[in-house]
Amino acid sequence: MSPFPKSTVLGYPRIGPRRELKQALESYWDGRSTRDELDRTGAELRERTWRRLAELGLEGLPSNTFSLYDQVLDTSVLLGAVPARYRSAADPYFAMARGTEGLAPLRMTKWFDTNYHYIVPEIGPETVFKLEAGKPLGEVREARALGYETRPVVLGPVTFLLLGSALDRLDDVLGCYEELLAALAAEGVAWVQLDEPALVGDRTPDELAAVRTAYDRLGALGSRPGLFVASYFGDLGEALPVLAATPVEAIGLDLVRGGAPVADLTGKTVVAGVVSGREVWRTAPKRALASLAALRASRVTVSTSCSLLHVPYDVDAEPGLDPALKGRLAFAEQKVAEVVALARAEFHGAAPQGPSVALPGPVVPEERSPYAVRAAAQAEHLSLPALPITTIGSFPQTGELRAARAAVTAGTLSQADYERRVEAEIERVIRVQERLGLDVLVHGEPERNDMVQYFAEHLDGFAVTSNGWVQSYGSRCTRPPILHGDVGRPSPITVRWAAHAQSLTAKPVKGMLTGPVTIVAWSFVRDDLPLRDVVFQVADAVREEVRDLEAAGVSIIQVDEPALRELLPLRRAAQTDYLEWAVAAYRRATSGASDRTQIHTHLCYSDADQILTAIDGLDADVTTIESARSGARILDTVGSFGRGLGPGVYDIHSPRVPSDAEVEELLRRTMRALPAERVWVNPDCGLKTRTYAEVEASLANVVAATRRLRAEL
Ligand code: GLN
Ligand code: ZN
Repeated sequence: MSPFPKSTVLGYPRIGPRRELKQALESYWDGRSTRDELDRTGAELRERTWRRLAELGLEGLPSNTFSLYDQVLDTSVLLGAVPARYRSAADPYFAMARGTEGLAPLRMTKWFDTNYHYIVPEIGPETVFKLEAGKPLGEVREARALGYETRPVVLGPVTFLLLGSALDRLDDVLGCYEELLAALAAEGVAWVQLDEPALVGDRTPDELAAVRTAYDRLGALGSRPGLFVASYFGDLGEALPVLAATPVEAIGLDLVRGGAPVADLTGKTVVAGVVSGREVWRTAPKRALASLAALRASRVTVSTSCSLLHVPYDVDAEPGLDPALKGRLAFAEQKVAEVVALARAEFHGAAPQGPSVALPGPVVPEERSPYAVRAAAQAEHLSLPALPITTIGSFPQTGELRAARAAVTAGTLSQADYERRVEAEIERVIRVQERLGLDVLVHGEPERNDMVQYFAEHLDGFAVTSNGWVQSYGSRCTRPPILHGDVGRPSPITVRWAAHAQSLTAKPVKGMLTGPVTIVAWSFVRDDLPLRDVVFQVADAVREEVRDLEAAGVSIIQVDEPALRELLPLRRAAQTDYLEWAVAAYRRATSGASDRTQIHTHLCYSDADQILTAIDGLDADVTTIESARSGARILDTVGSFGRGLGPGVYDIHSPRVPSDAEVEELLRRTMRALPAERVWVNPDCGLKTRTYAEVEASLANVVAATRRLRAEL
């Protein structure tokens, strides 16, 4: 077996440095181009990536890291797990990914603790696994035609089945993997990478036994490539000795998020992930070299901690960034260069000592008065009706508004003219809500491009990029802000819009802020401070904004934390600590409010059961939460919740207008689960992706249903 190359990466971005794949996909979906044209773009992007990696001096080039939509969906196709209902669609792959006439797509969910979303494998007793190896084999041949030998990357059997909740099908699936390995060996492939990120989470003894079975069996195959099992996003923990006892030749470790392996890995190649695939900072060479030197293995390869899918392409594509900041950044291209440089350096010898990090003291959350005291003060100050009706914040974002923002950037619209348009939009939103008869109004968030980027643009310590796109799912990308320094709020951010909205109406207007955890979760964050210290800095900035909103006469303030659950660590042992400081940060952001100011929070998901105690700990006066979309499951668990609660009464993710009877039924169920005085009435989430026609018709039905119920109280 040929030795594993000295340098590699676990994967690479594929959307294209100028989002070429996004353009090509959307044009194909709209019928503006053919499947051939789409495939040509794919081939060009793959070629560009291999050339670039080779030019940068990387030895081990991966293949099959490209995907037209998602690598997990590709694995379902590879293994023949295509549900029957999609097989007759014009394009089954995209029908599974996005749905088609009369056919809903497969479920999509977040990839471990990243912001990437994958298509969940649908595996039932009727699923017949059958290898369709065209894609990985095709990419190997394609690269070879260009002069590159590559290592195909495939999602491993254990992770694939765990994602599809079908580990009992291991035996069947292993048959396909055996066939695949044989086909790759016949093709002359030296190494294959099987990704097993699920092994960095808490795994049961049965699941660990499945790891042993899988890799003993694949390792025993007579003719096969070298087996490289890659783990990432954390520490392998108890899975490491299990894996090490199997015949796999190489094991990939995330040495950025995970600790140094305790196991002696003599006899194995360790593919050492010392260059972070999750952060955008340059690698500190001393620390990386120290982790490499500490490994006890027969051979060490320098690599990234995970695929580079999660970072943008190239810092040099950011002419607008401050040069001092640029010097600290590494995107995918720069990270490849770091891997190469580290592999070329002599990394044996004594481990240099890094600076020790001082741990901050315990976090003491600040207290507002007890809820009963606050509730009384708020009731007097706000005099709201029973079952108050409100919305989550955003109203439809019109094309004109987006065009106006682009025009300001292009210099063809003055800031003053833009602000007049925003004010006009706020007035429209206020009038719509008054006409409909809502009780707590919002200004509609017309000034925001995005609930995190908007705040990043107005806070010190953040930078925003112009090309720093990262794939979120399919053709969708986000441009996460870069939190690089101490966070400060030089001046009020939302106050003028909220105050303007409040000046237009006698009804209370709810101020709208993004919470500290969410701002940090959706940014690239400095790594020289513990995450929680960074979150606390952001919390202090939000706290100042809360104070200023209050001073401007805003008596209800919503601080959204939709990402609270997203940052939850993969291992249970770390979750309690995280939830403790995340909740404390939220309270720091909101506890400066006086008793009579009503604090709202909004969370975007219903499966909040596991963090319900934490949500309770936020101590918000009112919590709005998703419910309608998931069949009001949340109502089973919220009985113990002691403050205001608004389980959403309709799903805003669909253009469908709910009938008033439907809303009434959901409200009746809510009132069986909660005392009437705690119930709030609201949609599941913000309305920015809907049209005004949909929003007005839906909210009119919500008001009609609520009035009927109020009359019965
Ligand atoms: N206030 C935000 C909005 O209404 C909340 C968005 C969210 O929950 N993701 O758009
Ligand atoms: Zn939401």
